[in-house]
Amino acid sequence: MTTAFIWDECFGHAHDIGYQSFTFTETSIPSDVEFENPRRLQLAYDIFRHTKLLNKMSQYQVLKAEMADLLRVHSEEMINKVIRASRQNDIIEVGESALAGPGSFESAQHSAGGAMKAVEVLFTEADIEQSYAFIRPPGHHAGKDQSMGFCLFNNVAVAAEYSRKQYGTEKILIIDWDVHHGNGTQEIYYEDPNTCFISIHQEHNYPTTGGDTSETGAGHGKGYNVNIPLPPGCNDRAYCTVLEEIVSPIARSFQPELILLSAGQDANLYDPLGRMMVTRAGYRKMAQWLQQLASNVCNNKLAVIQEGGYSLPYAPIATLGLAEGLLNYTSPITFAIEEGKPSNHFSPPIDGIIQNVQAMFPHLFGLR
Ligand SMILES: [Zn+2]
Repeated sequence: MTTAFIWDECFGHAHDIGYQSFTFTETSIPSDVEFENPRRLQLAYDIFRHTKLLNKMSQYQVLKAEMADLLRVHSEEMINKVIRASRQNDIIEVGESALAGPGSFESAQHSAGGAMKAVEVLFTEADIEQSYAFIRPPGHHAGKDQSMGFCLFNNVAVAAEYSRKQYGTEKILIIDWDVHHGNGTQEIYYEDPNTCFISIHQEHNYPTTGGDTSETGAGHGKGYNVNIPLPPGCNDRAYCTVLEEIVSPIARSFQPELILLSAGQDANLYDPLGRMMVTRAGYRKMAQWLQQLASNVCNNKLAVIQEGGYSLPYAPIATLGLAEGLLNYTSPITFAIEEGKPSNHFSPPIDGIIQNVQAMFPHLFGLR
């Protein structure tokens, strides 16, 4: 049995949306880098190659998400907005903090198609027990009608709906451990009782509102949207505690046929867009845990879908940890930046939030 790795070389250079700059009244100083830039994945891919992790996985090309695939999740108007932006020469905003320019639509098609491929191999390749779509742009902030926060289309939702259409999957659990709230995914599935969505995120980081525990779903979907907003500074141990105390009982109770992970490595301890403390070892442990969970509850139907992770010096190393965890293997190679890592003893108190969530979803914790 092996892990499928889904990648397209376009992720390492296309959809280049410019750079951040330090802006003053009369001038600005370019930083030469944008947070969501092609280097972030290319560097991790190169590390996979040099550590020989790539050789331990079965590599697959992405599918290309067509209009019909995107329309299962998004409005035509929103999709057309991205298409129009891709035909221009400039980089323009197609949604709040979501930029698109030449080639962006094609990249987004490959990204969403990569997530679809991650599902396809689980159902069609006998020797595949889990899959990792290593894709960009990310997706979890994109809602039904709007791109947002680096996300053009919601890749994980496109993958979920592809699974329903192609393979008749009904119950899907989406776990989102990106450091930011998965507000787009929440919006898409807010009234759907067959899609249980759990978002573990830094409270009010991005978006700066929402993602609270009180947002529990609506209509038939009431009770199937679980937010776990954590204080800044949570470390490996805190994340593993949340997985064990909240995600595990929910997964066992919900009994999904498929688990999709929105995998952001931006809870890493060096990330410019997060304030958490997760290390390579933490991501390794979390991925191992997740693999075990999928083995126990859904016959290994686990697709890992890449989301954020923006520290160029460290996100690729955190990503290495994630891949190591999926493969149950630790590369002997270490990096200088890993020295002097923080103590795993100190973390903000999270018992209150855990108890709060457990009390709010009694039907998912076997208490009723
Ligand atoms: Zn993020």
